[in-house]
Amino acid sequence: MASNGSEASAPRQPTETEVVNPATGLVVARVPAAGPAETDAAIDRAARAQPGWAGLAPADRARLLRRFAAEVDAHSEELAELEVRNSGHPIGNARWEAGNVRDVLDYYAGAPERLTGRQIPVAGGLDVTFHEPLGVVGVIVPWNFPMPIAGWGFAPALAAGNTVVLKPAELTPLTAIRLGELARQAGLPDGVLTVVPGPGAVVGQRFVDHPAVRKICFTGSTEVGKRIMAGCADQVKRVTLELGGKSANIVFADADLERAATTAPSAVFDNAGQDCCARSRILVERSVHDRFLALLEPAVRAVRVEDPALESAEMGPLISAGQRDRVAGYVTGAEVACTGRAPEGPGFWYAPTVLLADSPADRHWREEIFGPVVSVLPFDDEADAIRLANDTAYGLSGSIWTRDVGRAIRVSRAVEAGNLSVNSHSSVRYSTPFGGMKQSGLGRELGPDALHAFTDVKNVFIATDG
Ligand code: NAP
Ligand code: MG
Repeated sequence: MASNGSEASAPRQPTETEVVNPATGLVVARVPAAGPAETDAAIDRAARAQPGWAGLAPADRARLLRRFAAEVDAHSEELAELEVRNSGHPIGNARWEAGNVRDVLDYYAGAPERLTGRQIPVAGGLDVTFHEPLGVVGVIVPWNFPMPIAGWGFAPALAAGNTVVLKPAELTPLTAIRLGELARQAGLPDGVLTVVPGPGAVVGQRFVDHPAVRKICFTGSTEVGKRIMAGCADQVKRVTLELGGKSANIVFADADLERAATTAPSAVFDNAGQDCCARSRILVERSVHDRFLALLEPAVRAVRVEDPALESAEMGPLISAGQRDRVAGYVTGAEVACTGRAPEGPGFWYAPTVLLADSPADRHWREEIFGPVVSVLPFDDEADAIRLANDTAYGLSGSIWTRDVGRAIRVSRAVEAGNLSVNSHSSVRYSTPFGGMKQSGLGRELGPDALHAFTDVKNVFIATDG
């Protein structure tokens, strides 16, 4: 920035964020943190770039997104290794995450040429609708899945003709910064996708306050999400929220108990439980409760918690010492059914832990822990299971285990959650909609309809009389 010669102001100290490897506790990078001026400059650049980006021929926008996908693919191993160092994700998971960004870009690269409106029969003329881009979209990303969540925001937003400013979490900015570079390398014009690392209260808040940002796509805590929604109200700014969860894994007595028990650990301990879809409440029909626990225990002990760079790693450390303390706070004083193993020494390790709930009032049963801790509670019958599953402010995902097809359908319809799976724990596919009911969120990401959340419908009537 040009300095004013008449003022003898001291040069501004650049602020930096230290990025820590959670598996070792060591600093692995220093990243400049944007302040309000840098954030405004990024938003201004995005606003200037937007008409040109939206004005590209649809096939050309599609081609650039495919090239971006190809760059991500060509650098997927580098991105995965970066995520292992920055986020402590097991290398296998991190490879999947980089591949997910590529796939989401490829999927939405098909959209510019298919973003059709309607022709609606009216008297006296022709009526057509257009899906117009909103302008600049602000994507705010949490630390738990830095790559996929960034891609779920920027890919459909860009495909629909918006430009994007993206704020990674302070703890995990490295892969987002690299994705921004790969976008430029692929030929996306300057200002089309700008990564702006910095504190949420500064950069994220500026996205909310700046009038040129027309939509916020936020993933993170319910607490911050509510504040963002309130802030967006002032400008009637569009907002998509993906927030917390406390999802139920409901196991009926007629289920394949062995499969239900052996898959339950991965459904909650994947990403060390730092997953908004984690099935962190296991409801088991009372008649099979003890047998289920007996089958669960060896599966929990078998989870390989180790250096995430090892090919065999199934679970890495928690993201920070603070997160580990938060998680430990839920276990203190609770009844522990069994635990797995975790490495000793440096890094923010926590062993997979199974807690027995006394009642649905228990704090560990009610609150999102965001760590490798799962609570188990028996239920009496189908109605009781549904009541307990819905006794939460959240409604993101869940699983239902039963061999009774009618029951599977009844319970799926009755559980208030956006993403359910029967006899499996699958939750997020880029080709299907994802999002929460109740306080787990607002709007849906991914799938065929996500484009509509990044556009406004415009209706045009053209008179044919006279
Ligand atoms: P958070 O504060 O909600 O952070 C999520 C994102 O929002 C980060 O990029 C953060 O930036 C940014 N942010 C923070 N304050 C903001 C503000 N005032 N305006 C705009 N953006 C803001 O989540 P957290 O503190 O990292 O995690 C706390 C808990 O939230 C977790 O333990 C977990 O329960 C839940 N959580 C849920 C998800 C999910 O996927 N649904 C993800 C993460 C966390 P900074 O990183 O710079 O603060
Ligand atoms: Mg926070």
